[in-house]
Amino acid sequence: MAQDRAKPPMITALLSMKCPNCRVGKIFIQGTFPLKDNLKMHEYCPNCGLKMTKETNNGFGINYVLTVLTIILNILWYWPIFGLNYEDNSIYYFLTVSTIITILLQPWYLRLSRVLFLYFTVGYRSKPF
Ligand SMILES: [Zn+2]
Repeated sequence: MAQDRAKPPMITALLSMKCPNCRVGKIFIQGTFPLKDNLKMHEYCPNCGLKMTKETNNGFGINYVLTVLTIILNILWYWPIFGLNYEDNSIYYFLTVSTIITILLQPWYLRLSRVLFLYFTVGYRSKPF
């Protein structure tokens, strides 16, 4: 029975996109690809029955934070390799590269932001099984 298992670590449950309540049931119906079904979620957790789709569960705010954070963190590798200077166009090249990277990461960010939203709002075993 699920109640008897040891508590799964939060970080592995979060990164493997498991239910925040039981950390066993999967949140999404399938993997990232194909992109058409990227964000299809189970309405209720297959393991504990937690309702996971809510009107407000979009995680758009968290996705925005992840996107801005990625653009800022791209400076850490771009600046030492290519250099940034306000006297030439290097800032525009950086913004172009950074934007492309951020767009390519969106399928995972959209999923991760929804999972993070669930983990912010639902604690471990906060709902009865
Ligand atoms: Zn669950």
